[in-house]
Amino acid sequence: MAYDYAKYLRAGKIPHIWCPGCGYGIIMKSVIRAVDSLGWDKDKLVFTSGIGCASRLPGYIDANTLHTTHGRSLAFATGVKMAKPELNVIALGGDGDMTAIGGNHFIHACRRNIDITCLVFNNYIYGMTGGQYSPTTPKGSRATTAPYGNSDNQFDIAKLAIGAGATFVARSTTYHAVPMEKLIKQAFEHKGFSVVEIIAGCPTGYGRKNKLASPSAMIEWQKDHSVNKAQWEKMTDEEKAGKFPIGVLHQESRPEFIEAYDANVGLS
Ligand code: SF4
Ligand code: MG
Repeated sequence: MAYDYAKYLRAGKIPHIWCPGCGYGIIMKSVIRAVDSLGWDKDKLVFTSGIGCASRLPGYIDANTLHTTHGRSLAFATGVKMAKPELNVIALGGDGDMTAIGGNHFIHACRRNIDITCLVFNNYIYGMTGGQYSPTTPKGSRATTAPYGNSDNQFDIAKLAIGAGATFVARSTTYHAVPMEKLIKQAFEHKGFSVVEIIAGCPTGYGRKNKLASPSAMIEWQKDHSVNKAQWEKMTDEEKAGKFPIGVLHQESRPEFIEAYDANVGLS
């Protein structure tokens, strides 16, 4: 099926600023296709973002967009959703934006279970500001602020989201563009707080420091290190070492925050 991407792009804003080989263009396409497949009205669609390469995305989309302050994407999204629950609200950001500066907003949005979809673009690095290590940089990987290798343990964003109470959690990579589109669509359709972590290549920031500077090397890496969830469950701990599961990792039904709030204060 041929998609009319132009319908969703803001006039005069393309070309985008992302480096050649950056995974974020692949994610933007999947997001557009997921929105299109649901037939959502652009006037009822809101994107919020913080600061960083990922957070540039709403600037290119012709919908209601809020490019906010660092780490505050979910705080703004929560305000929008509370004021206008009829809107479809998507909050997005990178690994640094969502799990460092915005880490508190992230875990509390998960436990609150407000009906927002949160897309976390995880490229294991602060790309825009020059390749500093982030909470998801793998232990031992190099960054401009870790020239001898990162000593910190890495956050697993999906596990963090599940532990904090998100009711839909999925993970994809930019290698899996078509399944990614389906996971994003499922997240959009889920009632409650949904998180999709997307592993993406940053050849400029992460790749150059870690011998993965070509976009194809990063895509190969994603293919080789990701495992479908059904397969993952049959693997031994030894086989799982250094790999990560993809697909829907968690789904449950729990009262949605605004509905619970309205019932609590006697509005419904
Ligand atoms: Fe993409 Fe990295 Fe370039 Fe940012 S610095 S646009 S994340 S490749
Ligand atoms: Mg990043």
